[in-house]
Amino acid sequence: MPPDQPTQRDLFEHRPAWAEDDLRVGTIATVVLPDGVDKPLDYLVPEPLAATVEPGRRVRVPLGRANRLRLAYCVAVRSGELPQAPLKEVAGVEDETPLLSRRMLALAEWMADRWMARRGEVLEAVLPAGVRLRQKARVATLFVAGEGEPGRKLTPAQARVLAAAGKPATAERLAQAAGASRAVVTRLVKAGLLREAGTIVKPAGAVRRPIAHDRPETLSPAQAAALGAISGAMRAGRHETILLFGVTGSGKTEVYLQAVEETISFGRQAIVLVPEISLTPQTCDRFRSRFGTVAVLHSHLTPAERHGQWREIAAGRVNVVVGARSAIFAPTPRLGLVVIDEEHEGSFKQATAPRYHARDVAEWIARAENVPLVLGSATPALETFARCLSGEWRMCRLADRVGGSQLPAVITVDLRDRAARSRGAISPRLAAGIRWALDAGGQVMLLLNRRGFATHVQCQACGHSMRCPQCEIALTLHQPGNKGICHGCGLVTRLPADCPECRSPGLVHRGTGTQRLEEQVRKAFPDAAVARMDTDTMRSRGSHEKTLDAFRDRQIDILVGTQMIAKGLDFPSVMLVGVVNADAALHLADFRAAERTCQLVTQVSGRSGRGPQGGRVVVQTSTPDHPAIRAAAAHDYEAFVRSELPIREALLYPPFGNVIRLVVRGVDEERVAAWAGTLAERLRDAAAGAAGLRVLGPAPAPIARLRERFRYHLQVHGPDGPALRALVGRATTGLKTPDGLAWIVDVDPVEML
Ligand code: ADP
Ligand code: ZN
Ligand code: ZN
Repeated sequence: MPPDQPTQRDLFEHRPAWAEDDLRVGTIATVVLPDGVDKPLDYLVPEPLAATVEPGRRVRVPLGRANRLRLAYCVAVRSGELPQAPLKEVAGVEDETPLLSRRMLALAEWMADRWMARRGEVLEAVLPAGVRLRQKARVATLFVAGEGEPGRKLTPAQARVLAAAGKPATAERLAQAAGASRAVVTRLVKAGLLREAGTIVKPAGAVRRPIAHDRPETLSPAQAAALGAISGAMRAGRHETILLFGVTGSGKTEVYLQAVEETISFGRQAIVLVPEISLTPQTCDRFRSRFGTVAVLHSHLTPAERHGQWREIAAGRVNVVVGARSAIFAPTPRLGLVVIDEEHEGSFKQATAPRYHARDVAEWIARAENVPLVLGSATPALETFARCLSGEWRMCRLADRVGGSQLPAVITVDLRDRAARSRGAISPRLAAGIRWALDAGGQVMLLLNRRGFATHVQCQACGHSMRCPQCEIALTLHQPGNKGICHGCGLVTRLPADCPECRSPGLVHRGTGTQRLEEQVRKAFPDAAVARMDTDTMRSRGSHEKTLDAFRDRQIDILVGTQMIAKGLDFPSVMLVGVVNADAALHLADFRAAERTCQLVTQVSGRSGRGPQGGRVVVQTSTPDHPAIRAAAAHDYEAFVRSELPIREALLYPPFGNVIRLVVRGVDEERVAAWAGTLAERLRDAAAGAAGLRVLGPAPAPIARLRERFRYHLQVHGPDGPALRALVGRATTGLKTPDGLAWIVDVDPVEML
């Protein structure tokens, strides 16, 4: 049995050579465990490991009374005087090279503080799983003829392989080119007649036909000004955050592309973040056709593929990284530019711990590297807008569409007006708009942010509505099969024919989801080819691309879908966009509901009229006078910003104040409520006397029950982010969570449900 702590003798035997005269001097490694204890721990580095223990590598350390060996991240190493209490020793080193640079370690430390996250979970988030698992990546070795002299006569197959190996190629490729087997190649490698000449990452998935996006001869004046601002900062080696505020089609992406070009011309690398949903082949092709080697980091990559990309990036062999949120952690040794497209998207905030926001992480990195951060959106987040208004960030406007195409005319249809309504979800005016577009040879996109057939199923006799037994969320009817699906937990049930409460027959299907809309559209426009795009139809890998390709190839006339169809797609033949229910998200219990609605309607409207024939938008709403709807209809997002900012200011909501949200979950509602109450009490005690700090709640969360767990939440508001975090930290440290309950802290939440 090894002792709990090293003895004096252990210390003596492992003392570094240079500490001959002073036994109390040594090398100490600070490590962070991936889970368990959050506090960094100090260990003594024994002499034989002194050369290999370094920050960014993982080490094995003994933990607890039993001294079980655990894997931990070494985050710092220092030499000097040892503390009074004897230290345990590092038992071994896991990684051959550091997985994390010092900058990444510093970033992780900052993130842990910024989002009140555990250090270990931040480190795990920064490193992709494939890197941590040390899996063999899908990396192929390239071989080229050279070096050795043939010791004996070559076989004809060997000779053919060597003849084919004038240029570096993979073993498969060589064997194929020479009409030989893989074994022939292997033998030549063993004999030293083929040598390694680098590696390549095997492409994930099929190679698609690239769509040529020509580089325009000249930039518009607004584009040139934006590019000038970016390259000015880049040339000066200065960090600056620059927002490209421009309508869809105003040429923002072209500015990113040329800024990336310039970055590469300086021998630097660029990271381009896009929302996962717009990580379509269309976006990737645009970067690939301009730059060739582009690492695309999307969520469909296997851990091994991700690891392979990671290695290529770290080796500096990839100039451009395009990816969703976590691509911000790509280990670029020569970073020159960071771009975030559609920066207002909620998906840049991670919904699970660590609950970081990629925009803030990107700013930290860009600042640390002295490089520009470019944000782009037609509908910037109010937080971003406010920082531009305050002068902290620079705003470049791209007010007009390139090529002079006009923004589409927007017609609002007031659903409170009887004449506007019809039996289905499509008002006569929307129907007329669809007919107009089809007759003119154009295409149509219809947005409805509710999937399924009917949004709830209700008994006509007693009013009982069918709810998920685990979540109490209204079940959505999905056809075929009369299935009731819970959109909270995914539970699928067969809906009964009769009411389970009063036994009367005749459950009615209320509300329209995308399935029913599709059915109505097919009936109303039998001559048109209709397709639907939502998470139900897009489950298999590649189906998203297939549908979009079919739409581009004009095999589809009318595309019905959820917000999936709203984002960043450029189809010049779309002449009509219909928003079936613009209010769907307006009345959610979320202070960003109006902002999100304005953003979604503006974004989807931007899909219309990108071609020479122009286009129209029809927005159906019960609140046509709401500032969010009016601004979107007028293509005047700034008008919305002007009306919304004073409301946020009055309520001290972001960007004028900070919010931390706590959510408590558990199966026993009383205990959930009690614990939420305890947390609220402690927070109120800690906040007492501090100016501007408010604790709201506890209250049942808008989604009050999910997967059999009750959910209560509370919010803490305050003018100063760090002070707010310190308050929550003070009030919650050392608390022992009662069994059966779980709770989370979400700093700067974007999800309030
Ligand atoms: P955004 O990203 O703002 O939606 P894009 O950069 O995608 O805008 O530009 C919209 C369309 O206009 C694209 O097809 C693009 O190739 C084209 N485009 C962009 N800039 C120019 C330009 N300066 N001259 C001609 N065409 C351009
Ligand atoms: Zn009933
Ligand atoms: Zn459910």
